[in-house]
Amino acid sequence: MGDTFQTIADPDASAQDAARLAERVVEWLVAEGIVLAEAAPGWALSEHPAHPPGPDWHKAVTDARWGSPEGVAVHTRPKVFYSLGDSDTHAVTCPRCGGTTTVADDVSARFSTAMGTWDETGAADVDCPACAATVPLPAWTWSDDVFAFARLGFEFWNWPALSEDFRTRISGFLEGHRTVFLQGKI
Ligand SMILES: [Zn+2]
Repeated sequence: MGDTFQTIADPDASAQDAARLAERVVEWLVAEGIVLAEAAPGWALSEHPAHPPGPDWHKAVTDARWGSPEGVAVHTRPKVFYSLGDSDTHAVTCPRCGGTTTVADDVSARFSTAMGTWDETGAADVDCPACAATVPLPAWTWSDDVFAFARLGFEFWNWPALSEDFRTRISGFLEGHRTVFLQGKI
C-alpha cells in the first residue's frame, strides 16, 4: 500500500512571513471544515504534529470516494520538500540568466551540498554553471516541481488528489508567491 503525500510549498516565504501565512491558511482550512484546529502527533508519517481531517475534508479533493485521509502537517522552518516520481533526470533553471542545467537524480555535488546547508541553516547558494551568478537555492526553478526549498509547506498525508481549485485557493493566501506542488508515495 504505502503512504502518499501531496505538498503545497511556498519557496518565496521569508522567515518573517512563514508563520503568519501558515496561520492564515490554517484558519481558512479550519473555517471550511477541511482540517481540525488542533494539530497532534500521529497524524502524519513523522512525529511532526499534524491537523486531523475535518468533517468537510472532501471539499479539498476531486474524488472523495474510498478516501481515508490522515493529517496535514504544516512546516514553517527551512525544509527540503521533494517529489517522488518516475523520472530520474531533472532540469533546473537559473533565475538570473534563464540557463537550464540538467541534473541527474543523484543530484550534482553543488546542489546536494547546498541542500544539506539549507536544511540546517535556511540559507544556501549555488553558483550558476552558465552565468556564474551566485543564486540562492530557493530561487532556482525545477522541472516537474521536483524540489522546493521553502520555509512554508503544507503536507497532506494519504489524501485523495487535491483539486486544482483547492490548490488555487491556497495559493491565493500566499501573496503572489510562487507555489510548488510536490507529491509522491513512500
Ligand atoms: Zn545563470
